[in-house]
Amino acid sequence: MLNYLRDRKILIGITGGVAAYKILELIRRLREHGALVKVILTETGTEFVTPLSIEALGADKLDTSAMAHIDLARWADVMLIAPASANFIAKFSNGLADDLLTTVCLATTAPLLIAPAMNQQMWLHPATQQNITTLKQRNFTILGPASGNQACGEIGPGRMLEAHELLDTLEHHFAPKLFNNQHIVITAGPTQEAIDPVRYLSNHSSGKMGYALATAALNLGATVTLISGPTALTIPNNANLRFNSVVSAADMYQAVMDCLNNSKLPADIFIGCAAVADYRPSQAGNHKIKKDHSVLNLALEPTDDILTAVAKLPSKTRPFTIGFAAETQNIEHNALQKLKAKNLDLIIANKVGKGQVFNQDDNQITIYDQNGLVVDLPKMPKLKLAYHILELRSTDHSWSIRHSRKLTEL
Ligand code: C5P
Repeated sequence: MLNYLRDRKILIGITGGVAAYKILELIRRLREHGALVKVILTETGTEFVTPLSIEALGADKLDTSAMAHIDLARWADVMLIAPASANFIAKFSNGLADDLLTTVCLATTAPLLIAPAMNQQMWLHPATQQNITTLKQRNFTILGPASGNQACGEIGPGRMLEAHELLDTLEHHFAPKLFNNQHIVITAGPTQEAIDPVRYLSNHSSGKMGYALATAALNLGATVTLISGPTALTIPNNANLRFNSVVSAADMYQAVMDCLNNSKLPADIFIGCAAVADYRPSQAGNHKIKKDHSVLNLALEPTDDILTAVAKLPSKTRPFTIGFAAETQNIEHNALQKLKAKNLDLIIANKVGKGQVFNQDDNQITIYDQNGLVVDLPKMPKLKLAYHILELRSTDHSWSIRHSRKLTEL
C-alpha cells in the first residue's frame, strides 16, 4: 500500500471551534498511517477537545513549557492549523505572537496549511476576507472552508473540511514529485452524441477515475492536460493543469490530437480514461424529432478510436499510452484483446454494470502490460488507485509491474 505519511512530522494547531472534534479523527487516521503527530492546543481549543483525548490517540499534546518553540518550529515537516478561528487568522495575518501557536507559526519554515472554521458572517466579513488574502499572498495554503449547515444553525461558507479531506491534503502534500517536467494527457468522463438539438446518446461515466488520475498526477509533480467530457465534478485547482472541456467523441478526438501535436509541450504519457461513445447518430437532426408513435430507427456510425490513433503516432510524438477496458463480462480476455489490437503499453480493466464502478468513489482494477505481467489491485478509492497506476513508473522513466502474477498465455 502506498503511504506518503509514514514518519512524517505533522504539527497540528487546534484553536477554538466546534469543528475541533473532527481533528481527533484526523489524528487517529494519521497515526494509523504511521505519521508522527504533535498538537498545540490553544486555550480556547481546550474548551472543545481535551488534552487527554489527544494523547489517547497517540499524539503529543504540548503545553507551553514542553519544548522551546524554536525546536518545535524546526521539528515540523508541515503545520496544519485546524480549526483555524477568525481570531487566529486575524492574529497570524498581522504577525502577532502572543501564545505558543502564533509564536511557532512565525518561527517555522515548514509549509503551513490553514483550515478555517467559523460562522458564515464572520467568514464573509471584509476583515476576515482581507486577512485571508494577506495569508494567501504570503503563500500559506487555505483549505476550504466548505459551505453548508453550521453549528449555530445558519447555512453558508465557514464549515471546516472533513477529517478525510484534511488527510487527503496531507497525503498529497508529501507525494514525491516523480513526474516533474512530465506532461500527462488524460481523457475523462462520458461523451454526448447529439441525436437532435435537445437529445443525445451518452453513458453512465462520472469522470471520477480520470479526475482522480489528474489530481494524483498533479500531486506527483506532472503538468496535466485534462480533456473532459461533460461531468458534474470540480476541476482540480492547480496551476499545472490545463483543462479542456469537450462534448462529443469527435470534439475529444480533435482536442487530443491538437494537444499531442503541440510541439511546444510534447506529451510523455497519454491515459485514455474517458468512456468515449463508440457510436454516434449518423445524422443529427437540425430540429427536435417529433413523436408520431411509430418505431423510430436511429442509424448509428462508429466514432474514431482516439486511443488507437494515439498509439499509432510516429515514435517521436507517441506518448506512453494507457487505456481502460470497462467490461461487463470476460474482462481478462477483452482487456488483453484491446491491449494488442490498440497497441497499448498498459491496459487497466474493470468490471462495470449494475451499480459497479460508474459514479462510485471506489473501484477494483487489474493492470496488464505487454509482457504478460498482471497486477490485481483490491477495491479502494479511485484516488488511491490513481497513485498506484502512476507509481508503476520508475524514476528511470520505465514502467514495470511489480508484485505481479504472470499470464500463462498472452
Ligand atoms: O474499445 P473500447 O471502447 O472498449 O476501449 C476502451 C478504451 O478506448 C478506453 O481507454 C477509451 O478511453 C478508449 N476509446 C477511445 N476512443 C473511442 C473509444 C474508446 O479512446 N472512440
